[in-house]
Amino acid sequence: MKENNRIANENNKNNKTLKVIAARCPQDHVCPAMRSCPVGALSQDGFAAPRVDKDICILCGKCVRVCPMGALVLE
Ligand code: SF4
Repeated sequence: MKENNRIANENNKNNKTLKVIAARCPQDHVCPAMRSCPVGALSQDGFAAPRVDKDICILCGKCVRVCPMGALVLE
């Protein structure tokens, strides 16, 4: 968790935000990135592309590494 916090602090400092690029998501499955989020910031309606709650997200980047389609990006 310490490493997550360090990365999150760095990302906050760089004014990064987590973006969902829905066009990259096939939207035909339960999003595997939801399980990887340590704070429950990702949710999904049916098989739609996931939504991020920016008030909860700590910008750790775990979900970015889980999505094989690159639909979650920190920039
Ligand atoms: S970057 Fe992704 S995994 Fe990390 S807190 Fe935000 S939504 Fe959750």
